[in-house]
Amino acid sequence: MRLTNIGIVKELMEKHGIKFQKKFGQNFLVNPEVPYRIAESCGAGENDCVLEIGPGIGTLTQELCEIAKKVVAVEIDSGLIPVLAETLVEYDNVEVINSDIMKTDIKKLFEEKFGKDDVYVCANLPYYITTPILMLLLESRLPFKKMTFMVQKEVADRLCATPMDNDYGAVTAAVNYYGEVRKLFNVSAGNFMPSPKVDSAVIQISLYETPPVKADDEKQFFSLIRAAFEQRRKTLVNALNGKAGISKEQIAQAITNIGLDVNIRGERLGIEEFARLSDEITRLKKEC
Ligand code: SAM
Repeated sequence: MRLTNIGIVKELMEKHGIKFQKKFGQNFLVNPEVPYRIAESCGAGENDCVLEIGPGIGTLTQELCEIAKKVVAVEIDSGLIPVLAETLVEYDNVEVINSDIMKTDIKKLFEEKFGKDDVYVCANLPYYITTPILMLLLESRLPFKKMTFMVQKEVADRLCATPMDNDYGAVTAAVNYYGEVRKLFNVSAGNFMPSPKVDSAVIQISLYETPPVKADDEKQFFSLIRAAFEQRRKTLVNALNGKAGISKEQIAQAITNIGLDVNIRGERLGIEEFARLSDEITRLKKEC
């Protein structure tokens, strides 16, 4: 069943009595080349498993089933479950789970569904919840081989930015802590139904097996990054004042101790510098 055919999509939805749910970020792909390219570039092969988030009516899922040994697809919208049963009927290597990914125990899912196989993540992510899903997967520390996501183009630009770029922000630094991000290709709004207001892009995160940077206190490291970008126009000393658990003078001291200018702004720091700053703040706290 050709799910990128607009007529077929409409027919399926009518037959099952469902409508596009804006609240779930439902924009389905209607150009066959796009799901094919995403699946092809996700890195999974015939001996590998794929975790898909938000299969929708199964457009990308079908392509993933063609290339992988097993696909587990987590879909929040119970109205789409009977549709998926119909559109994926030809595949015996897929399992659909009706669940909110944010409320799913992904560690348990990983162990139960994938065993010892290599696992890739691949998804056309719902845009309203892109960053929380990304962070959930990254913070799980599960050994996903690669994660390939369609996201809003501006989110892709932010994730791929480097320090000092206008797009560089807390989420860039956080994601870069776990892996290397690269943009694969752009996808214009006209490739979806309904057509969103913005263009999209496909990005890929290759998780580090050995992280290039490791902060002693990860919780503090991430909260420093958040604080630095919450007030990105302020100097780092002022942005962190009241949020680092040490005095303003000690923050200034920590910044100079790691060899940075005391007037520097947070947006100039890469993750390596944030990690060094966090470790230095930990050291100063112990001295108090
Ligand atoms: N994969 C399909 C495609 O490419 O055409 C649909 C992608 S659509 C942008 C996003 C999908 O994610 C929708 O099917 C939506 O219902 C689902 N979704 C939204 N929030 C979710 C959540 N929290 N957990 C699981 N699925 C979710």
